[in-house]
Amino acid sequence: MSRRPLIAGNWKMNGLSADGIALAKGVAEKRKAEAALACDVLVCPPFTLLADVARALAGSGVAVGGQDCHAKVSGAHTGDTSATMLKDIGCSHVIVGHSERRTDHGETDAVVKAKAAAAHAAGLVAIVCIGETLAQRDDGRTLEVNKTQLKGSLPEGANAANTVIAYEPVWAIGTGRTATPEQAQEVHAFIRSELVKLVGETEADKMRILYGGSMKPENAAQLIALADVDGGLIGGASLKAEDFWAIARNCA
Ligand code: PEP
Repeated sequence: MSRRPLIAGNWKMNGLSADGIALAKGVAEKRKAEAALACDVLVCPPFTLLADVARALAGSGVAVGGQDCHAKVSGAHTGDTSATMLKDIGCSHVIVGHSERRTDHGETDAVVKAKAAAAHAAGLVAIVCIGETLAQRDDGRTLEVNKTQLKGSLPEGANAANTVIAYEPVWAIGTGRTATPEQAQEVHAFIRSELVKLVGETEADKMRILYGGSMKPENAAQLIALADVDGGLIGGASLKAEDFWAIARNCA
């Protein structure tokens, strides 16, 4: 099965108006200059930049996504943003269950599942993040932890068109430490085998599974080339258009 890779940038809580818009324009220019590139490209700026970045990227072929959404459509939830609101300002995707949300905001699998369901209801693609901590890996619990998170975070109706999985080992996020190709392929293949049970063989075969965790120009080629790695969710290296693009160019 050949799956079209997705290269997604997670800007996290970085960027003020001028540099955020400049970064978006830089990515758009690179995308336009390489129209034949065989991957989808997405950037997920902080909430304050979403509308400006969506405008800057209009017509460029680069998609825009949120970094989180609330599970409800509207209501008394101060400081939160609904998936419907993200859709309304031009987003096509939203990241849910990033390990930083799970850690900083105590998000459980059930919360992540509800957010992913809200994303689907709003017509967004949910990028559902899962991944083990270093302690869990050292305890030999990597596959079990990812299995539990996957099962608990995927809502009813998840399919390859509305869901992308991001495997992000927590110990590799922002640490400069990357999973080896063997470690990444082992977990990605395992996730796909679990997806067969959850969404059926056809959808599991089509569903994209991204790797995230210190992906950068120097290590992207070998990770993206792996049989069950269908692109990357990139944090630090997505903050420079040159680096982000050097990663994207590995998609044949
Ligand atoms: C991320 O935030 O999803 C991520 C993978 O970050 P980094 O690339 O900086 O490790």
